[in-house]
Amino acid sequence: MTSPTPDAPGAPDVLAELRSLQRADLPVQGGRTLAYVYDSGLAEVDRVGREAVAAYAGSNGLDPTAFPSLLRMENDLVAFAACLLDAPATVVGSVTSGGTESVLLAVQAARDARPDVARPSMVLPATAHAAFHKAAHYFSVEARLVPVGPDHRADVAATEAAIDESTVLVVASAPSYAHGVVDPVTGLAALAAARGIRCHVDACIGGWVLPYAARLGRDVPAWTFAVEGVTSISVDLHKYAYAPKGTSLLLHRTPALRRPQLFASAAWPGYTMLNPTMQSTRSGGPTAGAWAVVRTLGDAGYERLTADVLEAVDRIVAGIADIDGLRLVVEPDSTLVALATDGTCDAFTVSDEMVARGWYVQPQMSYAAQPPTIHLSVSAATLAGIDDLLVALRESVATAVAAGPVAVDAGVADYIRSLDPAALTNEEFDGLLAASGLVGEGADGALAVPARMAEVNAMLDLASPAMREALLVTFLDRLSRPTTG
Ligand SMILES: *Cc1c(COP(=O)(O)O)cnc(C)c1O
Repeated sequence: MTSPTPDAPGAPDVLAELRSLQRADLPVQGGRTLAYVYDSGLAEVDRVGREAVAAYAGSNGLDPTAFPSLLRMENDLVAFAACLLDAPATVVGSVTSGGTESVLLAVQAARDARPDVARPSMVLPATAHAAFHKAAHYFSVEARLVPVGPDHRADVAATEAAIDESTVLVVASAPSYAHGVVDPVTGLAALAAARGIRCHVDACIGGWVLPYAARLGRDVPAWTFAVEGVTSISVDLHKYAYAPKGTSLLLHRTPALRRPQLFASAAWPGYTMLNPTMQSTRSGGPTAGAWAVVRTLGDAGYERLTADVLEAVDRIVAGIADIDGLRLVVEPDSTLVALATDGTCDAFTVSDEMVARGWYVQPQMSYAAQPPTIHLSVSAATLAGIDDLLVALRESVATAVAAGPVAVDAGVADYIRSLDPAALTNEEFDGLLAASGLVGEGADGALAVPARMAEVNAMLDLASPAMREALLVTFLDRLSRPTTG
């Protein structure tokens, strides 16, 4: 293979190709994508983040003595977060690749701090992020789920009842992703502390918002290291710190608490591997991107952005009250809004109608006794379009009411409910995927995902959680095949 030179005649313009490929994706700017991305709306912040990522794309955080600038940036970010999270002087922390990695490491450290416990467990509110289920799966720590109260917050008494000698970790969310409310951290942390158990607060999505909300005079229940018994906190920089994707922070109250997270291996003939996180080679890009964005915005910038995003949430809350057929699941504590429909319309249809109007909202399946809901992660940039958002919501609900409920054939529904995912063959899964409408064949023969998802979602919603997981894993398996032709 000859190496292409950029100016050779006929050389492909790969950046133009990328821009063309990217047109299939959701917009990351504009404040109209209300999941996955977080937009400050500030072009300068985006530019600085992007250029910092590019400048450090080849740098490796694997060895802090070889790339001391990355260690410096990591320690700067931890120091900034420590201040935000009311941490004591003993606090330590690491930059990870994202919220899931932060959560995985919190669970791994809690497990490995207790080698005396043969079959470790952790106690979670049922609303804890799925990352904890992944941690349970990876690290063989039993996840004990405790139903939340009618206010969608963790139930302290029920949590107490679920703790036993095998418990190595108690978890709280600040706030929960699905409902956007903060758990009673003070009560949960006290339970843990009284038994010498670690307490992790998952503030992946709220950790960069709630402190500024408190400074702006909002009512924020205590949840930081100011709460006695909180041993670790995760907070994502690539959410409400508005940093480029690829960074989160995991902070521990003391170096001793972090110690089991650090890994070294000299059991091979190469360099002694020494890692604070799951990655070994760590791109410097995300760390530099986050550092640049945090330096650019600073406390004053984040306070302004928080004021904007909370104003946007307030206006959504007020607007919802005037839309028949739609209600809040619960009054939001932060920047996440969960909406439910009444019997007059279908939540999945409302989601599709929003998407058709250029607003990406995220459908959430029914869970336990709760009906399907619609998730909105509101960004500071959403404020500028808030009137449009409310118009789109009102129209979407009206259209969904007119369309009526999504009918799933009763026979199909019974059939799906009767299936045991463990007993299905590959061919049966393929048949189900086709029947569900989840995959079809695109113009180019490749698998194509439907533009409207209401029927698919209604069908998935009928399936048991285990069946839904199995179907979606098969779906991902089929999507993820090498490009042909
Ligand atoms: C987003 C999120 C996570 C997982 O973070 P990723 O960056 O997507 O890996 C964990 N917990 C909460 C509460 C979150 O909102």
